[in-house]
Amino acid sequence: MSEKKMSVTVLLPAGRLPLEIMGRIHGFAMKYDLGVYCSTAQNLRLLEVPESKVQEIKDDLTPLGADFKGPGKFPLPRVCVGSPHCNLALIDMVPLNSAVMARFGDRKNVKAKLKIALSACPLCCSGVKTTDIGVVATKNGFELFVGGKGGPFPKIGRRMLREATEEEILAAIGVLVDFHDLKTVTKQRMYKLLDDPAFPFTEV
Ligand code: SF4
Repeated sequence: MSEKKMSVTVLLPAGRLPLEIMGRIHGFAMKYDLGVYCSTAQNLRLLEVPESKVQEIKDDLTPLGADFKGPGKFPLPRVCVGSPHCNLALIDMVPLNSAVMARFGDRKNVKAKLKIALSACPLCCSGVKTTDIGVVATKNGFELFVGGKGGPFPKIGRRMLREATEEEILAAIGVLVDFHDLKTVTKQRMYKLLDDPAFPFTEV
């Protein structure tokens, strides 16, 4: 009987792939004839991994700082390339992504279907307006959008903050994730909570 094949998804903070991890993944892909898929969530999914090799790959990549997709983890934001790599960027979004993960990354048992996106200008390349929680850099601080989603029935998020500071954005993300947790059994998109009478923000 042929061995069961699995996927291993390597999380890539701010969509950046460290060269050392890239090199190891290349080595495993050649050694075990794996496919490598760049997901729309900006992660790297190794395809067709023999079940018996999953732990070997994780054990090899973990000391390099790699983390892996798994249930209950705080959602790693999808992040546009930003400054200095895009002419339209107003800021570098890596520091805000790092700040989000530093504050919330250790949370466990985060209810599923919650996504976050960050964009460094109002063009919203990372899909902030079609993501549960979206943050956009503008010339006058950050804007926060909540309740967007993609899929077969897309929804545009509602703007809940304007001209916000980084600290105000971080605080708002904490409030939103707590509210989502309070109101969700196992999984739920944020748009379903927008009309809850206790929803902690109003549209601006
Ligand atoms: S959202 Fe703006 S800054 Fe980010 S990649 Fe798109 S155009 Fe560039």
